[in-house]
Formats: sequence, structure tokens, C-alpha cells
Amino acid sequence: MNALAEKVSRMLVSKENHPQITEVRVKGCVIGGEQLIVIAGPCAIETEELLKETAFKVRGAGADMLRGGAFKPRTSPYSFQGLGVVGLETLARVGEAMNMPVITEVMDSDDIPAVAEYADILQVGARNMHNFSLLKKLGRTNKPVLLKRGMAATVEEWLLAAEYILAGGNSQVVLCERGSRSAEKWTRNTLDLSAVALAKELTHLPVIVDPSHGTGVRSLVMPMAKAAIAAGADGIIIEVHPHPEKALSDGDQSLTPRQFSILMREIEPVAKAMGRRIR
Ligand code: PEP
Ligand code: MN
Repeated sequence: MNALAEKVSRMLVSKENHPQITEVRVKGCVIGGEQLIVIAGPCAIETEELLKETAFKVRGAGADMLRGGAFKPRTSPYSFQGLGVVGLETLARVGEAMNMPVITEVMDSDDIPAVAEYADILQVGARNMHNFSLLKKLGRTNKPVLLKRGMAATVEEWLLAAEYILAGGNSQVVLCERGSRSAEKWTRNTLDLSAVALAKELTHLPVIVDPSHGTGVRSLVMPMAKAAIAAGADGIIIEVHPHPEKALSDGDQSLTPRQFSILMREIEPVAKAMGRRIR
């Protein structure tokens, strides 16, 4: 056994210790099963009308789950911070109406009860992957957690962050590759698909990819979504906004609903080639 395999074999996330692949079940959706899961929605919940329109369109195009941030980790304190609890209520209402499970970020341990009340999956953002007290508390919840890779985190650090949640007793963890900071300036991040293949090889956890944050560039979302599926991802999470030019956050990387429906069509043969079906 090489040194890496030996190191991972002592962890709860290790596939070697747990050959049975973890399937994360939320309402009717299974992440990590035969079906490729597509999560779509705006970066942030802005208004109920916009979220409804987005959800209706992405659902019609075949998305499985609805995303939308209510607590937004913005670089500047003067940027839109999200609607908070009002946003959570909106997300839950729209998800219910569209019969879509919902996912949203929890930024602070204090918000776990509120977010867990409304969301089906709790998202840990890239900026919080190293927030060990948050991870420990999420280990004690009974809600699935989507763990984004930190923007400069190694695969080992990412897997150890997941280990914190599993060690607390919560094994419903989905890993999410969302790109790392690199020397590159013409994309927002550098999407690391080798990390997807590696995480799939080493762990029993489902792994999904976020090509929206992974590139920061709308035109690159589709090719990277296809590449992610070809690399073995169990799903993708895509930012969609009816009017990306007016979005309060991440407009440059958001697809229009029309572009999203083209993406859904174009990923189908790739998914099929990988032995996965889409809804
Ligand atoms: C998001 O999903 O909107 C988000 C803030 O992602 P990340 O934590 O990967 O930057
Ligand atoms: Mn975003």
C-alpha cells in the first residue's frame, strides 16, 4: 500500500474501510446512486418572484434540486449579504411548490438550527471548509452536508474536513470540488477534476462539481460540466439566473434558464457514456 492509501485507510471517509458507497438521500433524490444529480438555482435568493421563475425553468429543464444562498459569504461587507431567514423561508416555500429538495449555505454555527429547519442539505462554503467548530457542530446534526473544497485546500485537508463531520456522527456528507486559487487570471478559479477522480478513488462519499464557481466564466460552465461528469462526478451544481446581468451576485458565471436547458441536453450523452442516467 502506498503512503497516501495508508494514511487514508485510517480515516472514516476511506473507501477501503467502508467499501459500500455512501448514498445521500434527500426526499426523492439519491446522490451517489446511478442517477446523476443536477442542482441548479441562483447564487443568492433575491426575490420570491425571481426564485420561482428560476425554479420553474430549471425544474422544467430537468434539475433535481434547487440551490440559493440566504447567508452569502461576500468579499466586501458592502455587497449584498443575502436575505437571511426571510430567504430561507422563500427557498423552502418555492422548493415545496416545485417539489424540489433545497440546498443553502450555513455560514455560522449560530445559524445551524434555522438553516436545518428550512433546508434539505446544508452547504459549507469554500471559505468555511477550515471552520472546524462549524464542522464539528454539523457532525451532530441529522441533515446531509455538502462540503465545498476550500479555495486553497489540498485534497487531504478537504477529506479531513469531511472527517470532522463523520467523526461527529453524521455520515451524510457530499464532497464538492469548486476550483482552487491559482496563478491563472482569466478564470476565477482553476477547476481541479483530478481531485474528483482522486476523492472518488479514496472515499466512499459522493462527489459533485461546481463548474460555476470553478471557472467564474459563463461560457466555460458547459464544457466543465461535461468534463466533470466524464471525470466521475455524481452530480453538478450550476448557478442559473433569469437575468444574469442584473444578478446581485455572481452574474458573470450564471447561466440563463435557456442556456441551462441546453446544458441539460448536452450532458445527457456524457452521462450515458459514464453509465449514469439523468432525470
Ligand atoms: C456559492 O455556492 O454561492 C458559494 C459562495 O460557493 P463557494 O463557497 O464555493 O465560493
Ligand atoms: Mn455564487
